Amino acid sequence: MPIEPLALRGDVLILGGGIAGLWALAVLRDQGFDAWLLDTALPGGVQTLASQGIIHGGAKYALTGHLTRSAREIAAMPAIWRARLAGKGAPDLSSLGLLADHQYLWSTRQFGSRLTGFFADKIMQDRMHRIDRPPEALDTPAFDGQVYRLDEPVLDVPRLQQLLLRQTVGRVIAPLRLDALDNTARQLHGEWRGRMLRFDFEQVVLAAGKGNGALREMLGMAAKMQLRPLKMVMARGPLPALHAHCLGVSANPRLTITSYPLADSETLWYLGGQLAEEGICLSDAAQIENAREALAELLPWIDQKALRWACWPVDRAEVANQGCRPDHPTLLHDGDVHTLWPTKLAFAPLLADHLLDAIRDAGIRPRAETAGDFNAPLPARAATPWESATWN
Ligand SMILES: Cc1cc2nc3c(=O)[nH]c(=O)nc-3n(C[C@H](O)[C@H](O)[C@H](O)COP(=O)(O)OP(=O)(O)OC[C@H]3O[C@@H](n4cnc5c(N)ncnc54)[C@H](O)[C@@H]3O)c2cc1C
Repeated sequence: MPIEPLALRGDVLILGGGIAGLWALAVLRDQGFDAWLLDTALPGGVQTLASQGIIHGGAKYALTGHLTRSAREIAAMPAIWRARLAGKGAPDLSSLGLLADHQYLWSTRQFGSRLTGFFADKIMQDRMHRIDRPPEALDTPAFDGQVYRLDEPVLDVPRLQQLLLRQTVGRVIAPLRLDALDNTARQLHGEWRGRMLRFDFEQVVLAAGKGNGALREMLGMAAKMQLRPLKMVMARGPLPALHAHCLGVSANPRLTITSYPLADSETLWYLGGQLAEEGICLSDAAQIENAREALAELLPWIDQKALRWACWPVDRAEVANQGCRPDHPTLLHDGDVHTLWPTKLAFAPLLADHLLDAIRDAGIRPRAETAGDFNAPLPARAATPWESATWN
């Protein structure tokens, strides 16, 4: 017997279940809007799960010695996230916990003078504190640099993804095969779990990261998207926890290290910064060699013998900005189509608030739940880079 097609309707349809889509769904649902989210893969995001989870407070962007627009805009984000982590506002992240309450910035003696210019700015003085006792991973007589503590928490992104999915359960449909999206007819057609699916909507939100370009073209609009690749490196083994930027000669940190506890007392070091930007054309073996050399130079007391290594190539998807990092999160409005590129995971709350305003401006009103509504089951969880990578 043929399976019945599934016909659903909602006021707001979000496409893409990374941080931008999941946060927006949680906020819209909290405000009583009839919002749904569809993803063509397991939700959790591509960039989101690959991210280092740092809720930047601007330090990284102020490394030129003056506060850029990025630094000023992002400076408010740690406080917003901390409020959600304390259970204030939606989504409620009070059960999430943090990988680290703050992170560090360190510089070798060679580049220490650059921090002086950086500290000329009053705002950064309030957000960074020089510390005398470095964190465990740097606390050795061989360490010869300056360490600062930054007000930048580090999130457990896989847990955040699970928490947001549980809070929005019933309204996330994934993985979906998307056949057609038509904004004139305000309909999406696809297939989910062997059933043909038709979704009627009033407003559509494109939160599909790298997928936004193709979705915009499907809707007859210019893609307006740029991709900036990274090649992250992962090391696992008996490592101490460390969440820190190491300052080099450029305005980008030479190395940004975040760590994640794995099973069997192993710790994962996830390595980004300039290393990941400069290694995009290298083979995995060459990129891993670069990472080994950087660690040997910057943290020579770390024993690399027992470490295993892997690479993780991933594109950052952003609004087109001539290949340069956009200064701020993006929300484009094209009639009833809203396109989100947060640029940074940290910006997701700000973007969702702007979206909420746009949905209200479009005349969409909160409504009571309809009895007998379809409830989608909780989708399986998407794998993290360290679960998916091939380890050497
Ligand atoms: C290596 C790396 C490290 C980073 N570190 C940080 C950091 O420490 N701090 C920070 O603030 N930011 C960081 N960022 C930036 C941050 O990760 C991104 O800005 C953010 O995660 C983007 O989220 P998103 O929801 O827009 O996209 P994504 O996370 O890419 O999610 C897009 C989702 O859309 C789905 N999708 C794709 N096509 C379709 C379609 N046609 N229909 C429906 N769904 C679709 C995908 O399956 C995916 O689930 C980092 C980025 C990278 C790449």
